[in-house]
Amino acid sequence: MAAAYTYLDHNATSPLRPVALDAVVEALQAGGNPSSVHRPGRAARARLDKARKQVAGLVGALPSEVVFTSGGTEANNMALRGHGRVLVSAIEHESVLRAVPDAERLPVDGNGLLDLATLERLLAARPALVSVMLANNETGVIQPVAEVVRLARAAGALVHCDAVQAAGKVPVDLRGLGVDYLSLSAHKLGGPTGVGALVVRAGAPLATDRVGGGQEAWRRAGTENVAGIAGFGAAAEASRDGLTPALRDRLEASLPGKVHGAGAPRLPNTSCLSMPGVKAETQVMALDLAGVAVSAGSACSSGKVSRSAVLAAMGVDIADAETAIRISCGWNTVFEDIERLIAAWQALYTRVTYSDFSGARAA
Ligand code: PLP
Repeated sequence: MAAAYTYLDHNATSPLRPVALDAVVEALQAGGNPSSVHRPGRAARARLDKARKQVAGLVGALPSEVVFTSGGTEANNMALRGHGRVLVSAIEHESVLRAVPDAERLPVDGNGLLDLATLERLLAARPALVSVMLANNETGVIQPVAEVVRLARAAGALVHCDAVQAAGKVPVDLRGLGVDYLSLSAHKLGGPTGVGALVVRAGAPLATDRVGGGQEAWRRAGTENVAGIAGFGAAAEASRDGLTPALRDRLEASLPGKVHGAGAPRLPNTSCLSMPGVKAETQVMALDLAGVAVSAGSACSSGKVSRSAVLAAMGVDIADAETAIRISCGWNTVFEDIERLIAAWQALYTRVTYSDFSGARAA
């Protein structure tokens, strides 16, 4: 049975998985400081160690390569700090773009895929670091990161990859990608908010700007968020199988809107879709009233919707961009959720445009 409210905004935050909630509660009840040598301290340390293995296991890393952080934003900031000349893709998350405001931006094509020829050209000037996300938060488009690494390596550059949206949805393998730094966030895969990790390949340099303790092998000072990390570990393990595209495919086949990035490899859970003639904010509010949560524009961290820089970088015209919403499924999405979305979308479209879209695209 579908829930009374359908949540299709997993790329913003995925609901907490029951196993993650259990791990959080258990760790909070147990307490203890993982740096203490007594029994409660050692138990807290054991929770951290377990979670470190679970998170490392999700991305094919060594546990010692995992540095727990307060989330994806901190992981991105940490990875990008102190490198000198940096190249970033134009469609990175704000936490990358604002961490290195002077970085040169690499363009993407109409499908949101990185322009590798421009990357190759700019690599000739020997940047220290290249940062390219694995999957985009708005469109779900998956970048050719292994190819980016091959080109960057040849030019002697390090590579950072924001895998916040990819992890737990598609396979992510640190060694297969070959990157030096990989950012993760627990709340995108069914863990709690406020916890994440930067995976730092053994031997890669890491500049740290906070001092005060030897936690995380001197890479991030401060007593660890044991409960959050325990929840992150449980969610990481539970999301190892990733997601399948069946529900996304069903909704895309049933709605007539244009799907942005449709010509590129994409995450199995994300649709960035324009409803012709209906502003995104109107759609989000109307769908919310109909009991369906989706989002407009980018992450809206300030609570207000601004024009999508990602769609602009893809060359999507303003009229199309203003009508684009993001629908993102997740670990607990069921067929009935998609049916509710389709019905609500259809009712809105008919009401606003006085036209019936059934049959506009084969359902
Ligand atoms: N990177 C990407 C691609 C994201 O989508 C997000 C969250 O929206 C972040 C980084 C930031 O992660 P966090 O919310 O854990 O700081």
